[in-house]
Amino acid sequence: MKKSILVTGGSGFIGSNFIRHMLGKYPEYRIINLDKLTYAGNPDNLRDVEDNPNYSFVCGDICDSVVADRLLQKVDIVVHFAAESHVDRSIDDASAFVKTNVLGTFILLDKALRNKIKKFIHISTDEVYGSRIEGSFKETDILTPSSPYSSSKASSDLLAQSYYITHKLPVIITRCTNNFGPYQYPEKLIPLFITNLIDNKKVPVYGTGKNVRDWIYVLDHCKAVDLVLHNGTVGEIYNIGGGAEKTNIDITKKIFEILNKDDSMIEYVQDRLGHDFRYSLDCSKLKALGWEPEHDFNEALTDTVNWFLKNRWWWEKLRH
Ligand code: NAD
Repeated sequence: MKKSILVTGGSGFIGSNFIRHMLGKYPEYRIINLDKLTYAGNPDNLRDVEDNPNYSFVCGDICDSVVADRLLQKVDIVVHFAAESHVDRSIDDASAFVKTNVLGTFILLDKALRNKIKKFIHISTDEVYGSRIEGSFKETDILTPSSPYSSSKASSDLLAQSYYITHKLPVIITRCTNNFGPYQYPEKLIPLFITNLIDNKKVPVYGTGKNVRDWIYVLDHCKAVDLVLHNGTVGEIYNIGGGAEKTNIDITKKIFEILNKDDSMIEYVQDRLGHDFRYSLDCSKLKALGWEPEHDFNEALTDTVNWFLKNRWWWEKLRH
């Protein structure tokens, strides 16, 4: 069946990987990418699909209700990635996070309702659950976000849920763990460390480096969103995780191994304020739909390092 999809934030890391995946897999789908091109949005991320007749780009803000309304008249599905996404920036100044992540999501939900959108996939994060020492969060667990970033995402989740409960807008929420892969802005841990090391610079490790994150290769996340979009149940929430829990120091050492560096490249820095110790998700609900992460962590990390080695043109101009 022919589908028209509005992808918000499609010029960012995950959104661009998702658009490339969807255009490749479904040649009959039409995709409009609405992106404001903040510092994190990069037209280079989708240079290779720019001329695809099924793809179009609109430079605009999800907080602009006129733009949102106009685009939502043209599509039947929304996949909403657009967000301010970097925790450290939200600690410095949360205003853009509240505006884009909360107000922007509200505007999209409201216009989606008025335009009778058939499915609204709201992309969220494991960070909304907060931290836990052991065990894993299920979709029904309460939300105890710690940072301004994660609380703005939790707020948007609740708004999205309320549009399903109150208005029966066909919303599905996904909550994914830490992504890595090509086109990730080099302020996030893995691309920052890789690009620093390629340039023979030290890598800043927070605190003792013992904080734990679950890592997923970005294409596994994209495939999970694709599956949920086609086979998920409206009104439901799906956790998405790679099943690769690692401490930050494990990740650092793994990157050292791939790039032939040693511990002398570590610079321990003051811990992040409110730093969550561990994130962990129970993904059995998504697995029951037939999804499994396909990429082995070590192989995907090596591929990612190789991608950054080969694509200096992409990241060099993004570094200060
Ligand atoms: P990113 O920062 O790389 O990209 C965000 C994109 O949104 C950029 O292209 C930016 O220009 C755009 N954008 C920001 N504000 C906008 C606005 N007001 N209007 C229109 N476009 C705007 O982020 P990402 O890492 O690709 O994350 C995408 C989504 O996935 C986010 O919602 C994030 O919360 C979620 N998520 C990310 C991860 C991760 O590890 N990166 C994990 C789980 C969930």
